[in-house]
Amino acid sequence: MDQDIKVVSTRFIFNVNVNCYLIKSNGRFFLIDTGMPGKRHHIERELVDSGCLPGNLELIILTHGDKDHCGNAVYFREKFGARIAMHRNDSGMTREGDMFFNRKPPGRIVEKLFKPVMGLGKKDRFEPDILLEDGDELTRFGWDATILHLPGHSSGSIAILARDGALFCGDILADIKHPDVWSIVDNAEQMSSSVAKIKRLNAKIVYPGHGRPFPWKAFERLHG
Ligand SMILES: [Zn+2]
Repeated sequence: MDQDIKVVSTRFIFNVNVNCYLIKSNGRFFLIDTGMPGKRHHIERELVDSGCLPGNLELIILTHGDKDHCGNAVYFREKFGARIAMHRNDSGMTREGDMFFNRKPPGRIVEKLFKPVMGLGKKDRFEPDILLEDGDELTRFGWDATILHLPGHSSGSIAILARDGALFCGDILADIKHPDVWSIVDNAEQMSSSVAKIKRLNAKIVYPGHGRPFPWKAFERLHG
């Protein structure tokens, strides 16, 4: 069965936005990523305006553990009575509020610049309720979609592939100026095998963490 997809886009830094996606399938809602804490009330309003209310948000699915995707996970979990699902390899990031957990140690400058801004505040840290693995089906929650483990940006990065070819890819691909591989890479080797895995999927529309959704064919035209 098809799903309704609502894009909730908020400004992240400079000209870069960050997306949350609200999916409605079989009368239940699924929220992919949750945005930055500073955009909490705006995002909440968009969810409520779409009919997502306490009791009908089935899952909050996090594509990975960065703050711009997990910043409101705790808040929405409490507000809507939903469970948080993510990959185990990024759960240390959200438990400790440390974006470098399970990532390569950053240089001193990078650490100084990013750690204070991109670390989850104490109240926003959490343990997920559900740990997702590669190949997990979301059918048991009411959505015909599959989890893909695609490390590279972070060790626990995942994508969600819906049966109709909609691919929610987190920070693996993006469309800032044009469809491309996302520029922030923790492990280049893993990233290129994750991109190679995406190329075999036959996705139709890609819904990235940053930038606008784009047809898979547009990526293929540029990058083969
Ligand atoms: Zn991001």
